[in-house]
Amino acid sequence: METMRLFIAVDLSESMKAALIEAQNEMYDGGVRGSYTREENLHLTLAFIGEMPDAEPALEALSGVSFTPFELSLEGLGCFGDLWWAGMRASPALEALARRVRRALADSGVPFDRKRFSPHVTLLRKARGPMPGIRIGEASMTVDAFSLLRSDRGKGGMIYTELGRFPAAPAREN
Ligand code: NAP
Repeated sequence: METMRLFIAVDLSESMKAALIEAQNEMYDGGVRGSYTREENLHLTLAFIGEMPDAEPALEALSGVSFTPFELSLEGLGCFGDLWWAGMRASPALEALARRVRRALADSGVPFDRKRFSPHVTLLRKARGPMPGIRIGEASMTVDAFSLLRSDRGKGGMIYTELGRFPAAPAREN
């Protein structure tokens, strides 16, 4: 049976991507080699579903997730082995969104990786070289939607295709 590889993520604003690209450029200039994430692929994953025959159950589950827009800011760099990432400033609203997404999947019987949510944006895989002492630039954005994405191996790297977009409910006036 043909399957597709699914995950749920927040797309990043142009200004946040610009700060991340600048950090990647500094890494490269500092001699670090590896597989750098292309600008269009920079994202923040909320949950990873993996191989599924059909996206419908996930689309339906996610359509029930409600949240209001919130601010997200870059903070720090780190690594999981040879995968280097940029982190996000602690955000209860982001944690709550990831929790709601995961609860909606669980309630609908859609399987997903249940490892603890660890918000990061992957900048580089298979990194070779010491991490240069760089600081990530200030960048913030408003999260006003999240997406269900399909991930495929392309000739020049991974290709992510948006299968569904789930906007925030408008923030209530006080
Ligand atoms: P991906 O593996 O499809 O991952 C998409 C997103 O989901 C990334 O943010 C990734 O986080 C996250 N993710 C993946 N597995 C996860 C898990 N078990 N638990 C939590 N989050 C998970 O696409 P990719 O990240 O661009 O590619 C990563 C590597 O996977 C590549 O080296 C690729 O060759 C390999 N791969 C891809 C496929 C495919 O068909 N798409 C199949 C097998 C292997 P991170 O950024 O932290 O990884």
